[in-house]
Amino acid sequence: MKIIKNAIRCKICGDEIESTYRHDYVTCSCGACAVDGGHNYLRRSLKSLDCFEDISVVIPSEEEKAPVPEDRK
Ligand SMILES: [Zn+2]
Repeated sequence: MKIIKNAIRCKICGDEIESTYRHDYVTCSCGACAVDGGHNYLRRSLKSLDCFEDISVVIPSEEEKAPVPEDRK
């Protein structure tokens, strides 16, 4: 899976927040949700699963099915 955009919209304050690099931890203005991980992984910090809408853009990849060599983990 390739992450093009790592972003969510908070339903409480309406903020759209985006994490643009790996250690970019962004919180919305009301503090109910946050994104992290940039284009490396999708990480969310949430007070409630109901408080956000995921607006991320990802591309599913066939390569993901390929086994990862043990020494690359
Ligand atoms: Zn908010």
